[in-house]
Amino acid sequence: MSAPAPGDTIEDLRQRIAACTLCAAQLPLGPRPIARFSATSRILIIGQAPGTKVHASGVPWDDDSGDRLRDWLGLEKATFYDPAQVAQMPMGFCYPGKASGGDLPPRKECAPQWHDAVLEVLPPDRLTLLVGIHAQARYLPHLKRLGLAERVSRFGDDLPFVALPHPAWRSRLFMAKHPWFATEVLPQLREMVRERLR
Ligand code: SF4
Repeated sequence: MSAPAPGDTIEDLRQRIAACTLCAAQLPLGPRPIARFSATSRILIIGQAPGTKVHASGVPWDDDSGDRLRDWLGLEKATFYDPAQVAQMPMGFCYPGKASGGDLPPRKECAPQWHDAVLEVLPPDRLTLLVGIHAQARYLPHLKRLGLAERVSRFGDDLPFVALPHPAWRSRLFMAKHPWFATEVLPQLREMVRERLR
């Protein structure tokens, strides 16, 4: 059972994703797809791919990056982890393995295989947060020539898509270099998230 099929219910889709082995041969820890969504998720977070900690727990953003992202969004864990409100759909649903300077990029098979089917069941008035360069490359292709700071600084221009840096520890360097992210972008982002969840 793999690949979305016409007439699938949301539960069918969840089960198909959970059973996916499309790129299993390339996954050092094997498939453990992590994606959460519902027909009422008005915030969609498209991140990169699970790390080893998230692979072990099965809980998305279950790490320091997640703490930072929740702070950026002004969300408590209870809301962040409620699929009725917030959907999590990374660019690669499974841990892709290690590279020399961190983890490998998300598996390139994953988004073409699953994203459209998940987007189909989400509400059309959702706000989509593109966290990191891989999500931005897929969903904001017209900005691909810009650097990350330029894409993030265009906050509000490409709604309902919002480009954000990945909230890994390196984002502290980004925030130090670009103080407008904390003073201008984050307050607007929190208000936008509050409005969508109201
Ligand atoms: S990364 Fe995506 S395509 Fe590959 S096995 Fe996991 S769910 Fe399937």
